[in-house]
Amino acid sequence: MSWSQTQQSEDLYDQITILVGSAIRLLSGDAGVFVVSNEAFDPQSNTEYTLYRLTESALMPLLSYIRESKRPNSHCPLVIDTLSPTLVKQLAICDEDEELLRDVKGTKEQPVLERCSLLVNDHAGFLGMLHYLRPPGSSSCFERSDESEGALRLFIAHFAAGLRSALKWQSLVKEQRRLAAIFQQSAEGILTVDTALRIIDFNPTMERLTGWRENEVLGRFYYEVLHPKDRLGNELGLQDSLILQAFAGGEPTSGILTVRDITRERQQEEQRSTFISVISHELQTPIAIIKGYASTLARTDATFDRESLRSRLQAVEEEADRLNKLVGNLLYASRIQAGGLQMELATLDLSNLVQKVTHRLQVKSPGVTVKVNLPPNLPTVMADRDRIEEVLENLLDNAVKYSPDKPVVTVVCRTTGDEVIVSVSDAGMGISLREQEQIFDRFYRVGNAMTNSLQGAGLGLYICRAIVEAHGGRIWVESALHQGSTFLFSLPRMEKAHLPMVVF
Ligand code: ADP
Repeated sequence: MSWSQTQQSEDLYDQITILVGSAIRLLSGDAGVFVVSNEAFDPQSNTEYTLYRLTESALMPLLSYIRESKRPNSHCPLVIDTLSPTLVKQLAICDEDEELLRDVKGTKEQPVLERCSLLVNDHAGFLGMLHYLRPPGSSSCFERSDESEGALRLFIAHFAAGLRSALKWQSLVKEQRRLAAIFQQSAEGILTVDTALRIIDFNPTMERLTGWRENEVLGRFYYEVLHPKDRLGNELGLQDSLILQAFAGGEPTSGILTVRDITRERQQEEQRSTFISVISHELQTPIAIIKGYASTLARTDATFDRESLRSRLQAVEEEADRLNKLVGNLLYASRIQAGGLQMELATLDLSNLVQKVTHRLQVKSPGVTVKVNLPPNLPTVMADRDRIEEVLENLLDNAVKYSPDKPVVTVVCRTTGDEVIVSVSDAGMGISLREQEQIFDRFYRVGNAMTNSLQGAGLGLYICRAIVEAHGGRIWVESALHQGSTFLFSLPRMEKAHLPMVVF
């Protein structure tokens, strides 16, 4: 049986119950209980006692009586006494079991029963105590003659051997269930093979990771299914198989192979290296420019007229601003990662903000054509003014940056039932459908010659998305390659605003 086919044994305790019942019958008992000793009790596999034709409610009074009474020992392994009618009544045996009732001596008002306790031990130690009840005067074949003592000891030895193997079996079944559960639930793919490297087990995670169904692979050679590769990506032939090497020692009869999904780790690794290359490039460029201008200006053999001095200092200032913005974005991105973003919300007149930001762009970049389309009576929104200004600036900067020819940028605001939607359109290089899904990810930059030549750390849209979503809004893009892009974001209208705390 493979781990994949978990054994559903509902009769886990049946072997012991049958054994205990047979022993009680052989000893002429009608009902009883076997109580496992502390030494033999294994919490992983045993129950503390096994009842035979006795109810749970009868157990406690019976055991407390036995605790107070004479108990068997290795010299005298069987102890018999008579229970008082009160206790018999308390055990409620007479009422519940018709057969027992028939055998119970005495009257219904004064029922009488014998209690027998048998010590069960073997060479390995004390296994437990068998307590059973019978009508007074009955006796088993082990009590009838002088030689019976030897027979009783032999009976105890056989009973103990049977119990030991039943307890062992119980513990094996439990162990197997535990392993099967681990195998089925494991987040790692697990397969086991025999010494011929044929698959014996294939867990559900393995099915998910490989796309193979268990019934398709059982009995196949594992390397036909997995095609294992080394770190350099070369396929490992059968000769290099790690499992085969492990089998070389000769001892194992099966091998286990685990498979872990490392896609996410790979992605994080790639993100880290992209981060390092983007950030070092983005930091180095302005630093190199600042240093270049600074050393030119510091030359003692050069003189500069007012205009060239001013333009050089202006370039230094612009690069310092760029550095400042990059560091600010990095800090903001790490705050987004660390927890929720807190917004300082107040009523915001978007028309006013759009006009201010577009005007500033127009002054900064006179070559850019900026068109604004604002409906009259645009509803106010609840928003953090500085943050929304940042979003608009980012989208406008991108629209200009990614429009290689003369940029034309259009900002439109419109209202729907629940939201105000702001769109920033350009007629620039556009974004392919595949890349549109990723541009809002941290450090993601579209990889082409044109983008590579432009500065950027891939943080702007990530920050925009975090800000907009922290306002309960959405941000998305509609774009066609070489035709242009429209970035849109929505903010809930003030009267509808329902602002979540967004945690990234
Ligand atoms: P950055 O501009 O610093 O690279 P962003 O997060 O602002 O980072 O943008 C991510 C990527 O999305 C950019 O690298 C660019 O490839 C693409 N992108 C953003 N805006 C536009 C746009 N208006 N037109 C074309 N591509 C854009």
